[in-house]
Amino acid sequence: MQVISSDKSIVRFDQNNEPAAVVKAGESVKLCCRDCFGDAYFKAGAVESEITYNNPCTGPVFIEEALPGDTLVVEIEAMETADTGIVEIVPEAGPLGRYIKHKTIKKLPIRQEKVGFSNKLFLPVKPMIGVLGVTPLGAAIPTVDLGNHGGNLDCNSIAPGAKVLFPVAVKGALLAAGDFHAVMGDGELGVSGLEVAGSCILKLNIIKNFQVEGPVIFYDDGLEVVAAASTLDEAVSEATRRLYRILHTYTTTSAEDISALISLAADAKICQTVNSQMSARIRIPLSFTPELKAFIL
Ligand code: CA
Ligand code: ZN
Repeated sequence: MQVISSDKSIVRFDQNNEPAAVVKAGESVKLCCRDCFGDAYFKAGAVESEITYNNPCTGPVFIEEALPGDTLVVEIEAMETADTGIVEIVPEAGPLGRYIKHKTIKKLPIRQEKVGFSNKLFLPVKPMIGVLGVTPLGAAIPTVDLGNHGGNLDCNSIAPGAKVLFPVAVKGALLAAGDFHAVMGDGELGVSGLEVAGSCILKLNIIKNFQVEGPVIFYDDGLEVVAAASTLDEAVSEATRRLYRILHTYTTTSAEDISALISLAADAKICQTVNSQMSARIRIPLSFTPELKAFIL
């Protein structure tokens, strides 16, 4: 298995980026990733007040078989994190920013699957990949932004065991990942996950001549359709439309029954509310859509 160093990193999903590795469909690759601050808080002599995040992402990985019009399936086989994470609290940022007077960081230890929030409070570790995506055609997109190519989705089901589908827009797909969180609440309401360096093992497969509109996640026996938009209302509405379209295209269920099923059995979930666009997802248990399960997996 190829291992890609965190020295091979990008801050824009750009079709002109030089591939950091070339793999064949079906192969796994290990990406070593810096935290969203480029590990700056751990460098000697760092001036904390000057540090900002830019989500360096390791890659891009060129998948030989991937062509525009295909779908890339990224299976997150494993994730490891460093033993210290950082949560950043920022004045005037997010719904809590008005209560914060000074930019503050907390460095928290990660030991034996627990985050030491204080001497008394230990949170279960639930690692996730904040930025995972493919490269769009045309204008480059910074790794702090998000869209149909994925990017800074900050979705806590992009986690070990998940299969994440992306629409391939350029030859080779040019996948990259970074911005790991050791744990993050749905919504990332205080503007930061527990930002952490680490590594992930990703198995990469291609579905030929089939394209999802944007990120689709299979996680914990559920199908989740993700959308990004300028408001959460629009993101929820767009993700719901995409789920409808998938069920309408790949099952024999009537429009009325799809609407009833989504209403009764699907959950609207917030990914994050603090990036350049909001991201939301609609999750439906796969056991309620057996035709879909047979088609995609
Ligand atoms: Ca993020
Ligand atoms: Zn992050």
